[in-house]
Amino acid sequence: MGSMFLLLFGVLFLQKLVKLGLLMLNANYLRQHGLQVPAKFQTVISSTTAQKATQYTLENSRVGVYEIAYETIMLLAVIFSGALGILDTWVASVVTQGLWIIPVTYLQGLLYVLTFFIAITILSIPIDLYKTFSIDQRYELNNMTFKLWLMDFFKGILLITVMTTLLLLPLFLVMDLFGAYWWIAGSLLVVAYQYVSYVLGPALIYPLFHKFTPIADGELKDAIRQLCNKLNYSLQGIYTVDGSTRSNRVNAFFSGIGKFKRVVLYDTLIAKLSKEQTLAVLAHEVGHKKHNHIVKFFLLGTAGKVISLWVLSLLLNYLPMYQAFGVASPSYHAGLIIFMVLSGPILYFTKPLVSFYMRKCEYEADNYALRAMGSSEPLTTALVATVTSNLNPVTPHPFYSAFYYSHPTLAERVAAMEQAEKGIICE
Ligand SMILES: [Zn+2]
Repeated sequence: MGSMFLLLFGVLFLQKLVKLGLLMLNANYLRQHGLQVPAKFQTVISSTTAQKATQYTLENSRVGVYEIAYETIMLLAVIFSGALGILDTWVASVVTQGLWIIPVTYLQGLLYVLTFFIAITILSIPIDLYKTFSIDQRYELNNMTFKLWLMDFFKGILLITVMTTLLLLPLFLVMDLFGAYWWIAGSLLVVAYQYVSYVLGPALIYPLFHKFTPIADGELKDAIRQLCNKLNYSLQGIYTVDGSTRSNRVNAFFSGIGKFKRVVLYDTLIAKLSKEQTLAVLAHEVGHKKHNHIVKFFLLGTAGKVISLWVLSLLLNYLPMYQAFGVASPSYHAGLIIFMVLSGPILYFTKPLVSFYMRKCEYEADNYALRAMGSSEPLTTALVATVTSNLNPVTPHPFYSAFYYSHPTLAERVAAMEQAEKGIICE
């Protein structure tokens, strides 16, 4: 094993250590601070709720420790058992001829990658089941039946299979056709693929799992129509989703580019929040659209993918990379998988930057909602209701939230809105 790979394996294990360290740091902090409610929220959050959220987070942290141990063992097993090499021999023995115009090597590559992805999905089952049917069940967050879980699981496998096939076969072709510069053509392909999934995802993929319905006629819809007119946003793009069939969590999101873009409000949110609060959340989601956040994430994702493909193109024929994983000879498919195993932990260390950028977008959307509603009150109270319903800890360790959180904490968001409100009054 070359020194370069010792270094890479060092990064792999450093990542597991950092992950564990952050988890424990946050758990210890919550044990000390998570039982009291910060003075500012004492009138709106009861200490019982704060304690419940803390207990919930601590239980998940404990599972998180096992999860890290499990991942580390799996990683060691993959490296030292030569599983990727064994898989390579297996696919070559199973697939011995091409199909129609598809060459045999492409089919072998497809089977290789799919087997790996599906194995990873299956390995994640025990932890997923425990979190859903034990922890979430006890904390009254879960509404999923085992039958629904099973259906989601198989639909998920089917989706992975279709999406991987649609991307991988053209990618193999591009790799064959363009020689050392395949990554340029490959980038165009990946971006086009990503664009199509951004546009069609909300219309074709999400409905496989959830039922989307336009907002029902009534008082809420009338109020939404009024707000949409004021914000110059199309009412057609607003849906509710049957989130309550799976969980009691309150949520809303904006997704998609172009024709099928939509703001989605969970039925749980509509049930728990007042009309004013729902409107404030809606305005926040419209704020994401007005600030072009989806387009910006798309561009950011594109840049990441182009860089990844370029690095992959440099490593694709580097024999020691394959040997380190027990794979006898270079191939597109083994190269792809090894690259994914190696790049995951490296990308992990870019998480704080991505989280920081995402939080910046959340502040922008909050600010937009504040202006749309003319007051911070409805969004603030909506956030309190969301945080308490979802059992999010009110006081995570600042370092932990800075590293992982895609949304600022409740205290941070409320403080930013108060600050902005002062600004508006002074203007
Ligand atoms: Zn948001």
